[in-house]
Amino acid sequence: MDIHPAGTRPTRVAPTAWFTGQVWQDPIVDAPEPARVHAVSVTFAPGARTHWHTHPLGQTLLVTTGHGLVQVWGEAIRSIRAGDTVWIAPGEKHWHGAAPDTAMTHIAIHEAVNGSYADWLEAVTDAQYGAVRAGA
Ligand code: MN
Repeated sequence: MDIHPAGTRPTRVAPTAWFTGQVWQDPIVDAPEPARVHAVSVTFAPGARTHWHTHPLGQTLLVTTGHGLVQVWGEAIRSIRAGDTVWIAPGEKHWHGAAPDTAMTHIAIHEAVNGSYADWLEAVTDAQYGAVRAGA
């Protein structure tokens, strides 16, 4: 058994290869195999977001603070706020991040297959992200 006292696991800066803008990650469940579930608290600065990506076994998001956005490929951008939960189905191409003027933190929960819990694709362009101003 491991106890991780609060504040003993450093906040990580999210990899710029997979994110746009300032994003921080705080591990919650980061257990070694054969455990498969991972959970991480992710904080997006205003305007920051993931790249497009998929999850082999899906993903649940629980918004803990702020106002965020999520979009499935081919669908409208949707607003998410503290207390909202989102289920993203396996293989569903999507992105998530903060609103343009408001930070957002969510807990992301997902399971790994062969050590991988996401397949990363292209960045969400400013034009794609800017579409929020019309809809959300
Ligand atoms: Mn995701």
